[in-house]
Amino acid sequence: MPKMPLGVVLSVGEGLPDRLRRIGEAGFKTMQLVSPPKEWLAEPKRAELKELIGDSGIRVTSVAAVYEGESYADVAAVRATVGLLPEETRAARIEDTKKCADFTHEVEAPNISSHIGYIPEDRADPTYCGLVAAVQEICDYLQRRRLNFCLETGQESAGLLKQFIANVSRENLKVNFDPANMIMYGTGDPIEAVEVLAEWVRGVHCKDGVWPKAEDRLGEERPLGQGEVGIERFLAKLKQIGYEGPLTIEREISGEQQMLDFFAAKKLLDEMKAKLGIE
Ligand code: MG
Repeated sequence: MPKMPLGVVLSVGEGLPDRLRRIGEAGFKTMQLVSPPKEWLAEPKRAELKELIGDSGIRVTSVAAVYEGESYADVAAVRATVGLLPEETRAARIEDTKKCADFTHEVEAPNISSHIGYIPEDRADPTYCGLVAAVQEICDYLQRRRLNFCLETGQESAGLLKQFIANVSRENLKVNFDPANMIMYGTGDPIEAVEVLAEWVRGVHCKDGVWPKAEDRLGEERPLGQGEVGIERFLAKLKQIGYEGPLTIEREISGEQQMLDFFAAKKLLDEMKAKLGIE
């Protein structure tokens, strides 16, 4: 496997066989899957999905746990609905994460990734303590299946995330680094942030975006190379910190345009990797 093999984030649904065939033909070697909807986790669709993945020859590097009822419309919506932060859904979502872990283990992927929601800055905040306990419970369950739990970056600064990881204190707690999120949530320069988090990074999203235009808004996502991440200097920094894991292209749209953007991003990344001597 080459260093920093390219992959894409794919959701599970009708049309998956065709998309798998096309990304395989395009030369992608890895993928992250968005956690399958309930009907795909039940038989007979579960077996069908595993067969599709196995036959594709594309390695699953992570399954992203997403939860019913999440909204990324603006800052208030994220705060109210995303991840393990909302107390009323926390217990159920921990159980959903465990079910996702069982599936992840069956497809021989090493990581689950997730947005857990905004981590409070105050360590004495009961919500902070609740999040620590929730992530500890998930990490302990995953540990028995030799899986890492990767926190998706963006909703807090790298420094706060590093402190949170220390407080959770679990060996299998890692990071899926998304440079565009750092910008879209306005939480810091991604190049500086990836250096702070270097030792925990097990996955990287190749995604682009622009800074927010107002305090309560999120910045907008853009096709790779058309935002403010600076993808080439980001790749150069990954090389410098010794990262050799997958580069997973994420595009938060669906349909044919998403596929076309995957292919365009792959061309861009292949060129940059060659230029930077990453092979
Ligand atoms: Mg991401």
